[in-house]
Amino acid sequence: MQIQMLGTGSAFAKSFYNTSALIRCNEMNILIDCGFTTPKSLHDIHIQPDKIDGIIISHIHADHVGGLEEIAFRMLYEYKNKKTRLFLTKSIASILWENTLKGGMYNPADGYNSLEDYFEVILIEENVPVEIIPGLFIEFISTLHIPYKPSYSLFINHRTFYSADARFDENLLTQEVIGKRNCHTILHDCQLSGHGFIHATLEELLTLPNHIQKRVYLMHYDDIMRNFIGKTGCMTFIHQHEIIEIPE
Ligand SMILES: [Zn+2]
Ligand SMILES: [Zn+2]
Repeated sequence: MQIQMLGTGSAFAKSFYNTSALIRCNEMNILIDCGFTTPKSLHDIHIQPDKIDGIIISHIHADHVGGLEEIAFRMLYEYKNKKTRLFLTKSIASILWENTLKGGMYNPADGYNSLEDYFEVILIEENVPVEIIPGLFIEFISTLHIPYKPSYSLFINHRTFYSADARFDENLLTQEVIGKRNCHTILHDCQLSGHGFIHATLEELLTLPNHIQKRVYLMHYDDIMRNFIGKTGCMTFIHQHEIIEIPE
């Protein structure tokens, strides 16, 4: 299994695409999130919408779901009404349609009134690993980003942790991600400067012991990233379009 980063930028980054990843597993392509710049990033690596076998949604900020309208419309008009699978929790599904997509996509005259009219919606229960395609288990766990806004981090095949946008959670990382599951790979969002209201900051992540830091790739960073090369302890920045191999 491989993970290719489609983007590694923060919501406001201009040098990097929105943080999103492509999981390649058994010849299938699964996206994690689809922000407003993700269709362009997919275009850069010559992946057309009909080659995407499903999209996992972590939360409904535009840098994570802003590209869904384009994907759905292109599937409808360019690929003869094919639907992309969406993997998400029930709490995300309702707000994704009502609060985000409905404005641009509601079209009752043609019978398009719901998320299911555009996507094959597959609801995933929290805290349960589910084999979404052969060989790929995804587990959604609720993590804190903004109070009262549902947001989910992921365990990928049990031993890779992918933070959605999440505040620093030392207990989760030390006890669950490492202590209980011994994850070999951690992809974590990282705010490089300022106080961490809604994201883990570099300063906070640097408090992790080295044996954990060694497993951490930093993503969801600002345009000033280059100023921080060499200042991330044992953690490394992952780059846009970089591919990493995920061990079994
Ligand atoms: Zn974000
Ligand atoms: Zn967010």
